[in-house]
Amino acid sequence: MQRANMGPVYHQNIIHPGLSGAETNALVRANTIAISRSNAASSANEAGRYDEAIRLHQEALDLKLQAYPDTSVQAGISYNGLGEALLGAGRLQEADEAFAKALTTRERDGPAVDAAATRDNIGALREAQGRFAEAKEVRLRGKGKNEIMCGNYKCPTNAMYALSDLQGCGACKSVFYCSKACQKQDWIRRHKPLCKAHCANAQASNQQTTTG
Ligand SMILES: [Zn+2]
Ligand SMILES: [Zn+2]
Repeated sequence: MQRANMGPVYHQNIIHPGLSGAETNALVRANTIAISRSNAASSANEAGRYDEAIRLHQEALDLKLQAYPDTSVQAGISYNGLGEALLGAGRLQEADEAFAKALTTRERDGPAVDAAATRDNIGALREAQGRFAEAKEVRLRGKGKNEIMCGNYKCPTNAMYALSDLQGCGACKSVFYCSKACQKQDWIRRHKPLCKAHCANAQASNQQTTTG
């Protein structure tokens, strides 16, 4: 299950009176294929087959763009998924661009939980880039509205929280969890090597400042 695609489904009408019957059928067909590509992409991503996930998300996106604008909720789902797959593949710059597109759409048109999921994805990307202060900042952007997502991608609640309901990582203080179980799962799955490298660097540069 891909967390970021679990928000309310938007039924934006792609069929309008100006279209011929054949055009209408073509759009409906393209959209049906796009949804199946999108689902296949999520499964590939889940299984760690990132190159396949990237290709499938890109195909889904191309099909969606026949019917929906680049700034639509539908395209936003694909940009977010594409970003996740690119991040998994270590293509950080491209992931950054895909997430930026998803976030613009989602923060404007919602759903709020999808915007929060993309902010957390960007947080994970910033960690991978070694930019921990920015990881914290983007995650806390939903603080005022109690719209912070648990930092565990596999969080079973898929909910948004107030900062006071979350526990930050004690070492880096840049990622926040709804439970000890979530913290542990994310530590094992993702956060550990990034956090350790960051904290070792921070310590080394502290020592340089004090001694040098
Ligand atoms: Zn959680
Ligand atoms: Zn940490």
